[in-house]
Amino acid sequence: MCGQLETTDHIIFRCALAQFAWCFCRDSFDWSCSPLSVENFQGQFLESADKKNRAFLCFLFGCVAWSLWLIRNEFVFRNVLVSSPDVCVFRIISFMQKWEVLTKTEDRVVLAQARQKLAFTTSGASHGLALPYLVLP
Ligand SMILES: [Zn+2]
Repeated sequence: MCGQLETTDHIIFRCALAQFAWCFCRDSFDWSCSPLSVENFQGQFLESADKKNRAFLCFLFGCVAWSLWLIRNEFVFRNVLVSSPDVCVFRIISFMQKWEVLTKTEDRVVLAQARQKLAFTTSGASHGLALPYLVLP
């Protein structure tokens, strides 16, 4: 999207929109830093997490990576660029909602709390954008 060589690390962690998404997660979940690469995500985030947090982080990774990948594809194949970086966050939250049914029932409370944290950061950090399509518990 930015003209840099498209590697997995670049698309999912280092491109400007990816950095925005992960910094948004960092701020929402009170992480001390945001992941910089697949290796960093595995080493610094997954390996130090307990089983429950590891499952959440893998789920979140899927939502973030899929959002970024689709945004990248829309730009590359249809020449459509998102109107705002917030769109990426809204899509992450949307995927969290859609894919929640694929998770264990006992994990859904954690996911609902995570969605609320992201939505709260969105409403607080941005420009008054509402999330009208989200129904948070
Ligand atoms: Zn890039």
